[in-house]
Amino acid sequence: MMQVQNFIGGQFVPSVSGETLPNVGPAKGQEIGSLPRSWVPDVDAAVRAATEAGKKWRRTSVEERATLLDRIADTLAQRAESLAALESQDQGKPVSLAAAVDIPRAEMNFRFFAGAIRHDHTDFHPMESAFNYTLRRPLGVVGLITPWNLPLYLLTWKVAPALAMGNAIVAKPSELTPLTANALAHIFQDIDAPPGLFNLVHGLGGEAGQAIVEHPDIQGISFTGGTTTGAQVAATAAPMFKKLSLELGGKNATIVFADCDFDKAVEGAVRAGFANQGEICLCGSRLLVERPIYEKFLEAFVAKVAALKVGDPSAPDTQMGALVSAAHRDKVEGYVKLGIEEGGVLCCGGTRPELPAPFQGGHFLAPAVLAGLPPGCRTATEEVFGPLVTVHPFDSEQEALEIANGTRYGLAASIWTRDLSRAHRMAAEIDTGMVWVNTWLLRDLRVPFGGMKDSGVGREGGRNSLEFFSESRNICISL
Ligand code: NAP
Repeated sequence: MMQVQNFIGGQFVPSVSGETLPNVGPAKGQEIGSLPRSWVPDVDAAVRAATEAGKKWRRTSVEERATLLDRIADTLAQRAESLAALESQDQGKPVSLAAAVDIPRAEMNFRFFAGAIRHDHTDFHPMESAFNYTLRRPLGVVGLITPWNLPLYLLTWKVAPALAMGNAIVAKPSELTPLTANALAHIFQDIDAPPGLFNLVHGLGGEAGQAIVEHPDIQGISFTGGTTTGAQVAATAAPMFKKLSLELGGKNATIVFADCDFDKAVEGAVRAGFANQGEICLCGSRLLVERPIYEKFLEAFVAKVAALKVGDPSAPDTQMGALVSAAHRDKVEGYVKLGIEEGGVLCCGGTRPELPAPFQGGHFLAPAVLAGLPPGCRTATEEVFGPLVTVHPFDSEQEALEIANGTRYGLAASIWTRDLSRAHRMAAEIDTGMVWVNTWLLRDLRVPFGGMKDSGVGREGGRNSLEFFSESRNICISL
């Protein structure tokens, strides 16, 4: 049993109230440990520690900050195997995925932002009788709130640029997945990072999370999570004029044209739909296929989805693990049922697979494909965030665009075609922050990441992250 504690001022401590929450492992559905149930006093202590540490950190050189980031990256690399096992145990994802994606990416986040500040520059604007230069100052203490789907990957995506720009941190991971955030705190302690620079407060969103958003001494909030929670975070933070980045939900379209590379597109659509059990904000949960290849594509897609190996996340050949919680599986099952009520035909999955001991109590669900649904129905427009893809035919570019843009979300899309002109036309008209052509989830850490409409406000990634975690100050000097 892993008893996780808060990490405040460089020390591991229980919550002030002494209360804890159970941590349940998704694969067996059993308690694997506990975490502190934190509230305002815990966040207060974390903010005090961060404020104190931030006073020195904001004055450190670029090289000092980049070196710390590199040391964290080195330690993540040394501990990669155990971190992958921990992430899989806590989140339910296959350990092979955690080892190939989550943990290397966490390491890369630190290496990337160490390099980014080493090579960064600011603006200079000369005038006839003066010149201007821009200083970038840290915000101070920043609050980082992250979800359960890519726990370490998304936390480090915020921690690295926040530290790089001279801020101190109070972070809260999802209460469903506290383990790798705790492991990151151990790394800060083990490498003797300045105490108080990175503080971790565990607990419930409405308690510890809300206390972070409300805290008057936290100057910026970077939040990744659901759209409804994002709206609540914004409603609290906006009147306090906090800098705010919101990375929210998605209902992304995978758009397949008849001239695509068929096998590559099938492969891509399966990965986009079901990677990480479909629990990635960028997952292509709506599959739009041009009519001439619709039947053939659906058949090939369903065959591949039905063949995905679901089960023990620690087995190296498992392709889909368990959903993060029993409640989340109930939600996904509810959408499968709703989809059938709305007129959909269940082509595969949507049922609980029979697995051997000790996985009978795990939160597994066979990946589901629903066809024949009207594209505007609830199942095809609301975020499910699990292993369910709806498939829809279309007859023209215009119709594909209308379906793709017909949700409140605007995070990402992927287009599969050999016609590059069409790809450009479509990419320019799809209302999303990101578009992939003939690929999915190919990420360059320099590019803007984020969504439009109800998928969020602001961009992170590369310079966008450096800008978010700092204030630009112009200095004008008369000559
Ligand atoms: P969530 O319920 O919105 O929670 C996200 C985080 O916010 C968790 O740490 C949660 O804590 C906390 N929280 C909840 N209520 C809060 C409040 N009132 N004030 C402050 N913090 C609060 O989202 P989730 O279910 O963990 O994650 C799934 C969602 O994240 C999906 O909608 C997905 O699309 C989205 N997501 C978006 C991106 C992106 O980059 N756009 C990436 C990944 C995921 P508790 O868990 O303890 O309640």
